[in-house]
Amino acid sequence: MKYVFLVLTIIVFVSVVSAHRLVRLYDVSRGSIMNMIEKGYDITNVDIRRGYADIMLPEEDVDQAALLSYDYEVLPREWGELLPENSKGAGYYYDPEENWVFWCSLADNYSDLVDTPVTIGKSYEYRDIYMIRMTSPTSGYKPPIYFTSLIHAREPGGNSVLIDFAMWLTSNYDGGDTRAAYILDNSTVYFVPVANPDGYLYNMPNGGNQRKNMNFTLGDGVDLNRNWGYMWGYDDYGSSPYPGDQTYRGISAFSEPETQVQRDFIIGLEPIAAMNYHTYGGMLLYPWGYDEILAPDNDMFIGWADAMTAVNNYNYGTAWQILYTVNGENNDWSYSGTDVPMIYAMTPEVDDNGFWGSQNDTLEIERICNECRPMNIIFCMASLGYVGISGEGETGIEPLFSLNSIYPNPVLSSASFRITSMGFSNVSVTIYDTSGRIVHSFEAGELAGGTDRFIWAVPGEIPAGVYTARIFDAAGNCDSRRFTVLR
Ligand SMILES: [Zn+2]
Repeated sequence: MKYVFLVLTIIVFVSVVSAHRLVRLYDVSRGSIMNMIEKGYDITNVDIRRGYADIMLPEEDVDQAALLSYDYEVLPREWGELLPENSKGAGYYYDPEENWVFWCSLADNYSDLVDTPVTIGKSYEYRDIYMIRMTSPTSGYKPPIYFTSLIHAREPGGNSVLIDFAMWLTSNYDGGDTRAAYILDNSTVYFVPVANPDGYLYNMPNGGNQRKNMNFTLGDGVDLNRNWGYMWGYDDYGSSPYPGDQTYRGISAFSEPETQVQRDFIIGLEPIAAMNYHTYGGMLLYPWGYDEILAPDNDMFIGWADAMTAVNNYNYGTAWQILYTVNGENNDWSYSGTDVPMIYAMTPEVDDNGFWGSQNDTLEIERICNECRPMNIIFCMASLGYVGISGEGETGIEPLFSLNSIYPNPVLSSASFRITSMGFSNVSVTIYDTSGRIVHSFEAGELAGGTDRFIWAVPGEIPAGVYTARIFDAAGNCDSRRFTVLR
């Protein structure tokens, strides 16, 4: 009898906690999204470009979708749920234990580059929140760059991207891609891969719908990405005052141990830049999020985002431009300069298949890692001031002989060089990699004088990387400019 009771309890328990489905609503307007936010719907993704929004509904309420949109589609079960066969771990995503083992073994295997994980504080349920520090043995000031994932516990795709990037940096440092050497020789990269350990662990046997932390004092957790101390609770659209809502902001700014731990660590660290990973939807977000205002560095963010998304073609902008306003969020606090010098903070929304849709598909996990890796690389290079991201028509005082621009930069297959010269001179171009080796040289031909342009098709044998192009004329004048090749 006891046994029967136990079995029944488990069946009831599993069916109660896992019965949610992601539903895609088509032809929804901004107005109807605001309306849904007001009513407390769990909006998981908005794609204005393609004209749809996804919401999470209890399975028995899926019919409600017909009231919200004429056309809707119930998305595959695994997009919104950790399937029972994967419920002990996270399928092909790294569960909490696999994360710990991965980061420890990375430190073991690359002890000259990676420190063993260090606890920076405790979660609500008193679990360790740990960070990993990575840099090369070179000395000098090496500004910190900060990467996080899983502040929202049902978004494991961002964690996969961090693991991939850490592997790429370490395995390419010595004799691989010169960009990895450049990043680790010139910065210190920090990872906080599991920012909400309680929620993530809870998801393993419980279907995977926990987004918030496990402080159930008032409801079912606090949204840790609405709990930061800049413009906290600015309005009730960008975060919710209701404890049962998925965007519940908590009783006060930094009320939660998880946000306090990150805040204190960041204040001590003073990173110059941060990437805070979320899923899903294929977007790159930057400040401000709390209101319809552009940041003082908006042009710079556009320049970075344009270069960072050259490979994955993610939609970029502020949250209010491409999603909806958000307040009490990590990026705004980091960028605001409130408690720590201004940090160039950005949030990628990885284009995963819903929250858990790649749990049985290593190829899809590989895809999201491959499409986010160039974004991480460009982000680090841009933070270190190395990429020289530039527009086509640069202005300002141009010297008599100058390489004014290389466009587009990053370059995918061919680039336009714009050169100002006195004219009637043969110009030759030499391309160097970051270690100063010549990888290519060619004659640009005779210039007419003034401003000339020529197109250079990047030879297929030149790998992805950062390069310096140097131009020379017959009189010995020269000029140079950096550019990045993406493959
Ligand atoms: Zn998120």
